[in-house]
Amino acid sequence: MKIVNPATEDVIAEVEMADAAEVDRAVERAVRAFPAWRAVAPGERARLLRRFAQVVEDHAEELARLEITGAGHTVGNARWEAGNVRDVLNFYAGAPERDHGRQIPVPGGVDVTFAEPLGVVGIIVPWNFPMVVMTWGAAPALAAGNTVIVKPAEWTPLTALRLAELALEAGLPEGVLQVVPGEGEVAGARLVEHPDVRKIVFTGSTEVGRLIGAKAAEQVKRVTLELGGKSANIVFADADLDKAAASAPMAVFDNSGQDCCARSRILVERSVYDDFLVRLSQAVREVKVGDPNDPASQMGPLISAEHRERVASFVDRADVYAAGSCPSGPGYWFPPTVLAGSSSESFRRAFAEEIFGPVVTVVPFEDEADAVRIANDTAYGLSGSIWTRDVGRALRVARAVEAGNLSVNSHSSVRYWTPFGGFKQSGLGRELGPDALSAFTETKNVFISTE
Ligand code: NAD
Repeated sequence: MKIVNPATEDVIAEVEMADAAEVDRAVERAVRAFPAWRAVAPGERARLLRRFAQVVEDHAEELARLEITGAGHTVGNARWEAGNVRDVLNFYAGAPERDHGRQIPVPGGVDVTFAEPLGVVGIIVPWNFPMVVMTWGAAPALAAGNTVIVKPAEWTPLTALRLAELALEAGLPEGVLQVVPGEGEVAGARLVEHPDVRKIVFTGSTEVGRLIGAKAAEQVKRVTLELGGKSANIVFADADLDKAAASAPMAVFDNSGQDCCARSRILVERSVYDDFLVRLSQAVREVKVGDPNDPASQMGPLISAEHRERVASFVDRADVYAAGSCPSGPGYWFPPTVLAGSSSESFRRAFAEEIFGPVVTVVPFEDEADAVRIANDTAYGLSGSIWTRDVGRALRVARAVEAGNLSVNSHSSVRYWTPFGGFKQSGLGRELGPDALSAFTETKNVFISTE
């Protein structure tokens, strides 16, 4: 596979894709490594994960550079992502010694529960946040005593491959964390169907997630699914409109809109709709799109020519209310684009489907109930924002919107110490937060007679 820098179209690396037999060999190694890894004393497993976090910290700039050249991320984002990998490893390094069972009162004996690791866990990763998404699965899985095989996305395997090397450098035993680059339908599919892989963590499109869920069900294989989104940013008339309009562009255009949490549907109360659109357009024109290595760049290119074509297919010129600018020449550039309030067929499609690019759709709403109705009128349910100064309404709407991650007067979705995941067809299960280990363990109940 030729790995292409999306900002320059230069080939920066060639990576051999694993076939099904190579996946089988990786699973064999992971199965062999499991008994010793689960037997590592909790404090020692914690120390190894902390050391891994430290090695990541020592190589943070190198990892960030790989994500800039391999995935087109801006330097600000890429550095944050390398820091997030370190933080997630550190956070779950605190877990092995806290992976408690319970003691439950019973007559005639003692009853205790154990949190047992599952065995081999397969993690299938998309191209939009390669090293971060890999680590959200791998860190808690390893902390719980599982061995892990990561299948990165075809276009973006470089940081995953480097992280596997860094894990070895940190002292994780051979076979505990492996990375197998390969095609989804070949290497990914083999991980899903391999009977010795006990769990799949899949992050990617709802379409593929559905297939994987069905395939895994044949073996009652555990799954965590983190899928697509079409999240609403709901702006009420009483909101701080300056702040809401100024922050709305990057709530969807961050990572060039290739973000499952992108607030790609803006819903604005009708009385301030025109006013908001004027302010939003101004803010969109100010978004700086350019060389990802330039710290001033807020947005880089899209991941590939193929993806740019798909994004462009959603934009009908007649629906465009405002657009920013972007470089011309080499690179898969696309300008930040606002589509507003039309009733055309093309607008309805852009408003309903996940575009995964820098395109935002804006519509008016009449009242609170109407806002909630529009926000929930989608198969997705990943994230969303609510802008209002009325705290009661903020809470009512936050409870009424069917989504896993909401923010009020803010657009933040992800903190590694709070749970993350989707309602409806945005996913199944939760990652991150205090309970992530339970997604990588089985509860075993043991009764010991005292008679
Ligand atoms: P994708 O579904 O095309 O691919 C994701 C991964 O699955 C890749 O590694 C791919 O090789 C693999 N794959 C493809 N077909 C497979 C098969 N039949 N069996 C096994 N594996 C297979 O998604 P993408 O285009 O890489 O990523 C974009 C999507 O990911 C968007 O829909 C986005 O919303 C979603 N996403 C969700 C989250 C979340 O946390 N909810 C986070 C990031 C991205």
